[in-house]
Amino acid sequence: MKYSIKLLPDNDQTCGWINTLNPRQNFPALVGKHLADWVVVGGGFTGIAFARRMAQAQPNAKIIILDAGAIGEGASSRNSGFAVATSSLGGPYQRAKLEEFNRINRINQAGIDWLRSTVDEHNIDCQWRDIGKFHCGAQASSSRAAAEFSHWLDAAQIPYENLSPADLSQRLGTAYYRSGIWTKADVMLQPAALVRGLCSSLPQNVTLYDYSAALTIRDKKGAMVISSPEGEITCKNLVLAGNAFLHAMSPTPSHTVPLTMTASLTRPLTQSERALLGDPKDWGILSLHDMGATIRYTSDHRILIRNTATYRGLKPLSHSQMSAAQKTHHICLRQRFPMLQDLDFAHTWQGILCISRNSTSLFGKLAQRIYVSGCYNASGISRGSAMGLALADYALSDTNPLLDDVLKYPAPQWMPPRPFLDLAMSAEIFRKKLSVGADA
Ligand SMILES: Cc1cc2nc3c(=O)[nH]c(=O)nc-3n(C[C@H](O)[C@H](O)[C@H](O)COP(=O)(O)OP(=O)(O)OC[C@H]3O[C@@H](n4cnc5c(N)ncnc54)[C@H](O)[C@@H]3O)c2cc1C
Repeated sequence: MKYSIKLLPDNDQTCGWINTLNPRQNFPALVGKHLADWVVVGGGFTGIAFARRMAQAQPNAKIIILDAGAIGEGASSRNSGFAVATSSLGGPYQRAKLEEFNRINRINQAGIDWLRSTVDEHNIDCQWRDIGKFHCGAQASSSRAAAEFSHWLDAAQIPYENLSPADLSQRLGTAYYRSGIWTKADVMLQPAALVRGLCSSLPQNVTLYDYSAALTIRDKKGAMVISSPEGEITCKNLVLAGNAFLHAMSPTPSHTVPLTMTASLTRPLTQSERALLGDPKDWGILSLHDMGATIRYTSDHRILIRNTATYRGLKPLSHSQMSAAQKTHHICLRQRFPMLQDLDFAHTWQGILCISRNSTSLFGKLAQRIYVSGCYNASGISRGSAMGLALADYALSDTNPLLDDVLKYPAPQWMPPRPFLDLAMSAEIFRKKLSVGADA
């Protein structure tokens, strides 16, 4: 078996979550020849959770995490910071899918529980906030979407509140939304701070290398050899945790697709700006509609807008595409907060997540000595962490309820090859954008 990696991440340097932290100390790049028991390719939530669990189970094993960029500063630092406990399957309640809904939420919750205990144990300062999340909509069809979601929540006995426009206005400081649901168990956090804290508290038998992309992977006499620009590792076992960048491998290991998203973050609001909103507590809103905007009011009083989704393969958005995305974020900000006329964005960035046709994840053994986990749509903080842990348990032949749940995941459904995939993705995104209306 031989894999070559055709495209590497090319992250912008403008991510607000990263740039509002103190400058980070880089890990070295891989140079020369090394031996390891485990190599993890990709240092995001999945790879880090796997490495921590494996290092604890095998304290004498040598575990290496390689990242093509600064470890953790891919999508894991660039997301909206919702550690999702309750996922929505979308659409009307279906009794036949209740167990799937419950299973996904148990996996999410396992990820949150593990992250919480790790954050507590290592005092990771990441604005961890147990404040739940809102699902809101501003268009006429939002009340139906809210009613459908409540039906799922009732059936699963998940604590939530159904909110009137007046409740929403009072709790959020914007009168924009007509319908909303608040679910209790979700956590808001600063993702770059979390992932940095996770990296710096790994057990001693885990070594991290920044800017050390895996370029080729091949078998050699019963071992795996991973080559990067200036180094090479021969290892017993390999974990592929590159998420969207699994798509850059040839042969491609699965039917998953990268999706490029953009986000902007403001400076902290002044006292008088906060007063204009009624000085609400911090919150996070997911849209009740596919392709709707995600908004946060953070604990340090900034507003985040996550909007726009584009299929670009793995190519970064151009300068003009980023300007257009920022304009969309502006419109979104002004619509929701017309009273904040002087407020502008301090940071705008892009990131790539991974989706599959049947909204499922990729998990398991790809070939002898090669394990993989990835593709969690926009729930990779909790689910990616849980699945990284479960992958270590799976490789160790452990059994536990989390792994049982993860193993019931269906595999990603077939996707057509390019260029048909490009056409299908563009058509699907266009169709969804048409129906998002005031929630864009
Ligand atoms: C704008 C945006 C908003 C989002 N909002 C949320 C949210 O609110 N909540 C949520 O849970 N999820 C959200 N997501 C999704 C979430 O960020 C991902 O699901 C999560 O980061 C997946 O973690 P991961 O470790 O599997 O992959 P990643 O975080 O993508 O990490 C993969 C790593 O692999 C590295 N890599 C790639 N190729 C190679 C190579 N050849 N060699 C070495 N390393 C390589 C990359 O540099 C990267 O660091 C969002 C994503 C985006 C882009």
